[in-house]
Amino acid sequence: MIAQLNAELAERAQAGLKRKRRLLQSPQAAHLVADGQCLLSFASNDYLGLANHPDLILAFQQAAQVAGVGGGASHLITGHHQFHHEAEQALASFVGLPAGLLFSTGYMANMGVVAALLGRNDAIFADKLNHASLNDAAVLARAALNRYAHQDLAQLEQMLAASNAPRKLVIVDAVFSMDGDIAPVPALVALCEKHDAYLLLDDAHGFGVLGNHGRGILSHFNVISPRIIYMATLGKAAGVAGAFVAGDETIIEYLIQSAKTYIYTTASPPALAAAVVVAVDVMQRDDAFHQHLRELIAYFKENLNLKKWHLMPSDTAIQPIVVGSNETAIRLSEYLVTRGILVPAIRPPTVPRNTARLRVSLSAAHRLDDVQLLIQYLHEAEQVLLA
Ligand SMILES: *Cc1c(COP(=O)(O)O)cnc(C)c1O
Repeated sequence: MIAQLNAELAERAQAGLKRKRRLLQSPQAAHLVADGQCLLSFASNDYLGLANHPDLILAFQQAAQVAGVGGGASHLITGHHQFHHEAEQALASFVGLPAGLLFSTGYMANMGVVAALLGRNDAIFADKLNHASLNDAAVLARAALNRYAHQDLAQLEQMLAASNAPRKLVIVDAVFSMDGDIAPVPALVALCEKHDAYLLLDDAHGFGVLGNHGRGILSHFNVISPRIIYMATLGKAAGVAGAFVAGDETIIEYLIQSAKTYIYTTASPPALAAAVVVAVDVMQRDDAFHQHLRELIAYFKENLNLKKWHLMPSDTAIQPIVVGSNETAIRLSEYLVTRGILVPAIRPPTVPRNTARLRVSLSAAHRLDDVQLLIQYLHEAEQVLLA
């Protein structure tokens, strides 16, 4: 096996697909230190700059003083700390849903929810560009997986109409993680109502970013439905770690009883939950983060003026620049590093072939002059690399 793995690794390296990890030597921030170099980073999902916010750090430290470090047991044994409970209530109320449930990661939340609610005879309908965790969730549930072309609701409707599965679940990224576009939730809800399906919304990149004070995709569209099962991660805009699911009380109670990735795992450290409560407070208290982020997004879109490469149509913090080949994406990313700027090149299999891209992610932690610098070097890079 090791010989085969080595051969595969060599193949990947040859195709320009081998990944390597940078060593982060500072907090996650707009200006960070990685591999010994100071870099201006457009490479995190810390969309509000909360990962390194003094109020969250203080809450985390104080909570560790009173609750210790480890969760110690699963939630159903003795691991369900008061801080977890408070975070669940704060999060559900923030997004405007009746009940919430914490999971240790978004990956586990997706797998837990889908496998608990669906089985062998049921059917899943999924956008082709959904996050990997949603595809793995479908495999785990052993339900039939129907994938429709990205944002193609006509195809989705055909698939729904053709299915006679007892339970139907449409699953989508609310904001697509590598494209930055937004799922048309009201139209999806209408399709679910018409075809007696439920809708699992993965708002990993919308929670904290979209809607009133960052309440997420539901607030963005002002939509509410008992058919929506909402999931958002807490390691992105919320700046901490973990994830939560929110929705109808019966669904949440059922998940507590039967989601395996909830039941058979140790509760996350309670101090993380205490920091999440403060993240929600910070967002609720102050809309300045969101205002600033929206201004940076608008500025970037207005002022970036590329000749060959193109910005994808996105109004979110994710602003991908498609350059085509893996090699160009890597050269561009490396060029920017020589200028002190970090933007990751995203290649297949994360994105479809020939759509390698630079994934610019903007954050409220950036200043306007950070974004101006990025634009200047992107213009320069296009001239140099395409010359
Ligand atoms: C990051 C992400 C996840 C996984 O969340 P983690 O908490 O990082 O495990 C799930 N879905 C989407 C769309 C994501 O971007």
